[in-house]
Amino acid sequence: MPNRKAVQPELYSPETADNPALNGGKCRVCGYVFFPPQRYGCESCGAPPEKLAAAELRGCGRLHSYATVHLHQGKDIEAPFTVGLIVLDDGPAIRSLLTNRTDEGLAIGDRMNSVLVVAGADQDNNEMVEMRFARTEARK
Ligand SMILES: [Zn+2]
Repeated sequence: MPNRKAVQPELYSPETADNPALNGGKCRVCGYVFFPPQRYGCESCGAPPEKLAAAELRGCGRLHSYATVHLHQGKDIEAPFTVGLIVLDDGPAIRSLLTNRTDEGLAIGDRMNSVLVVAGADQDNNEMVEMRFARTEARK
């Protein structure tokens, strides 16, 4: 297996193929959990940045909203693709590309989990992986 590298290594680890955790943060004063990580201070209680700690968030949650983009001018991604807002079980919401290219079969409230997809290779031939969210197959 080639070496794997995360496209956004500050947000997730490239090592776990299935359901990778996300790198978020937690306020040590009020317990507020946030994503993505930031160093400004707690946006809930105003605690200074030194009171913030790194926190690993589970890569699972529920689909809050989604939209399919059918026309896209950029060369970075080919339309159609679907963007979703997922409210993580650990609290914060994350906006992410979904593995579904269209919204077929999706519904608000669907269980979602994180997956890493190969997004190409860098110049040293490391496999570059990107995080997406996929509908969890077992529906309950
Ligand atoms: Zn706080």
